[in-house]
Parts: sequence; C-alpha cells; structure tokens
Amino acid sequence: MKERVIKQQATVELPRTGDRWIDCGIIGLFNMTKHGILEAPSSIDVRLQKEQDKLVISGGSYNAIEGFLKDAFEQVKSNLYVEQTTNKVGVFNEEKDDFQVVPKINLVGVVGFLFSGGDLKVKYRKKPLTEKLRKKLKKSKELYSEQRKIEFKVDEKNRVYASSPHYNWPYKPRLEGEATTCSFCRRTAPCADLHSNNYPFAVATEHFRNFFSNLRLEPKICSLCELASLLAVNCIFFNLSDGRRRLFLGIPDAQSLKELYRFWRDIPPRVALKPLNQSSNILDEGYRYRHLNESILAFSLELYLKLRKVKECDKMLAETSSKAWHFYLASKDGKTVSFEEYAHLTDLHKLFRLFSSLETPEEFKEMFQNLGIQQGKQWRTEFRDRMAQRIIKNAPLNEVAERILWEKGYVKGLTAFVEQYNIWRG
Ligand SMILES: [Zn+2]
Repeated sequence: MKERVIKQQATVELPRTGDRWIDCGIIGLFNMTKHGILEAPSSIDVRLQKEQDKLVISGGSYNAIEGFLKDAFEQVKSNLYVEQTTNKVGVFNEEKDDFQVVPKINLVGVVGFLFSGGDLKVKYRKKPLTEKLRKKLKKSKELYSEQRKIEFKVDEKNRVYASSPHYNWPYKPRLEGEATTCSFCRRTAPCADLHSNNYPFAVATEHFRNFFSNLRLEPKICSLCELASLLAVNCIFFNLSDGRRRLFLGIPDAQSLKELYRFWRDIPPRVALKPLNQSSNILDEGYRYRHLNESILAFSLELYLKLRKVKECDKMLAETSSKAWHFYLASKDGKTVSFEEYAHLTDLHKLFRLFSSLETPEEFKEMFQNLGIQQGKQWRTEFRDRMAQRIIKNAPLNEVAERILWEKGYVKGLTAFVEQYNIWRG
C-alpha cells in the first residue's frame, strides 16, 4: 500500500496596513530576506504578493514560521542594532572556567533613541561568587589592573557576570492561540500590547506624550506587525542632532507595497545611504539641523543633489517625489521621547523644480548650511528654519533674509539666492 505523505504547509499573510511605519517595516523584512541580509531556512518562503498588496510567509508549520520571525529579529538586533563600545567588562566564561574580558555594548544612535524609552537594559547571566570564583576573580583583576576601562562587577546579591552582555529586548512571536484584532493590519490574530519597545510612536509610561494612544484605547499589535515595526528603522531616513537629543525622521509612503518596495530597491543604493550606526543616514554631519523645516529642506536638497548625478536621474527624481513624505521631529529628555512636530509633504517635486532652477544648487547647499547663527557656544537655527518653512510653502523670503543678514552680517550667496527665488516664484 502506498503511503501518501502530505507536507503540512502553514501560511501567514500581512496586508499593507496604511500605517507608514509598519508598512516600511514590511518592506524592510522582505528586502532583507530577499537580499540575504537576513538568513531564512530554505523551508521558509517570504514573498510580496503584488496583486493583493500583501506579504506572504509560508513554512512547514506555524511553529517553524514563529521560529523564523524570532530569529529574524535576533539577527537584525545583533548585526545592526547593537554596537560594541570601547569600555570592557570582565565576565566568567563557563567553558574556559575563567574570567575573560569582553566589550560592553550600546544600541546604535537612532535605534536607542526610538526604542529605549521603556526599560531596555543591558543584561548579563549571573553566577554566585563561590570561593573558587573569588580566587579567579582576584587573579583576573590583578592581571588587568593596568587597564582602566575594565569593570569586574560583583552585584548586591554577591553574583558575578557570567555571559556576554545582551539587551533584554524580547520579541515572542505567536501565530496560534487566543486572538484579537490587531490595531494595524485589522487581522484577527494573537496580539501583544503596544509599548515603546515594539512601536516607537506609542509608549509605556504616563510620562510619554504621543499621538497614537490618543486615537485608540488599547492598541494591540500582532506578531507580524510587531516584527515589521521592529525592522522599520531600516527603511526610513534619519538625522540625530543636539547631542543625540533630537531626531528627524523622513518616511516615504506609497499607494502599494510594490511601489514602496521599488523605492527602497532603486533609491538608497544610488544615494549611498549610510548605516544605522551613523548620526544620519543621509545628511552631512555638523550643520545642526535641529528644527523640522530646515531638516526637511536639507534632506530634500541632499536627495536632489545625489540623484541628479545618477543614471536615469529624471526617472529617479520622479520616483522619489511621487511618494507622500511624512516628516517627524522628536526630542528626548532623559527617557522621555516626545514627537513634537510633524509635516506631510505631497509635492516634493516643487522643491526639486526649485533646486533645478538654481544655477548652482551645490552653492545653495553651502549657503543654507551657513545660515546657523553662533551665539557663544550655542548655535541658533530658528531663522534658517523659518526660511526653509517659507521655501517649502512657496512664500516670500525677503523679510526673513533681511533678518538673517541683520543678525549675521554678510552670508555668501544669500542675496543672489533670494533674487533667483523671487524670479522663480514669479
Ligand atoms: Zn497586525
């Protein structure tokens, strides 16, 4: 008798949610799997079903898919989100039966800003300090006594560190079991509570101000949307400023996942997007863009300057400006993150047209960078911000330009720019 072997298949589907952050994360997950940045077992298939505008993940069982989702976050966390610092710590290594020195870790800037509002902490496995360990600890301390930056810690319960450092940032995907409605994809699925460690725009404590929790009473997030949220930072533009206390975000939105996927496939390689461990993945450092409008203008100009040099530049500029852009400015005070300012830009093409009308857009960039006003050790950029706001709104500049000239004296290229701008406005 022939035995029929039916290979059980499990499939989960995540439609485009309309939440710009989660949708970028869906593309992040797909992109990273497609390009091997994320390793997936051969039994797992991740694809974008373009006609139905959804991401489809299939595997041998729900359990296998859960394993993949969990592992995906672990990989991204350890490869992209965590960096080693120059400080070191002595930890007990079970296998070697001795202490060893390992680097301490940090979350990279933008990830730390967005996610560490809650209780994310560096953790170690610990081990009671026995007499035998005490001797080994003493010996190691002597051995490394010359090096200042090494910490050998014994905690208040008389235990030593016994593992490399890691973050207590769990993601526990569940695809089966008690189900409710996910606030994002609206699917009925097992969900987790929303908090600042899985969705940066929502927050765990009463000290946080945010807009999401005002909209829905008890927002829930399913395991797929949660992973997308955890990966979304890979598919946004960012700039940290003011000693990492301020963060500018630029998030593109499109009509479909396919269109969003195309954007992330085509544009970032051409603008040489910098990695997450930098202060910004697109802007030059050191020009103190700390307000929303000046950051939007600098960001748009940078995209324009980079894209105009590439092959098929008209097509690339059109693709970029066809997106709806969401811009945020958040600030951080201690552990409190506030999303303070927001702008929605659907006509980036107007700014691109302005830049292309300038004789030398590179000189405009230099002039714009130089509009910060130094006051002692502080830099004031509110007039640059006001000027950017007026340019974005296509409004007259004369008054704000005069104010800057009055505050700052001569600024190379400013008067010539305002003249060109006035002609362009007509
Ligand atoms: Zn969901």
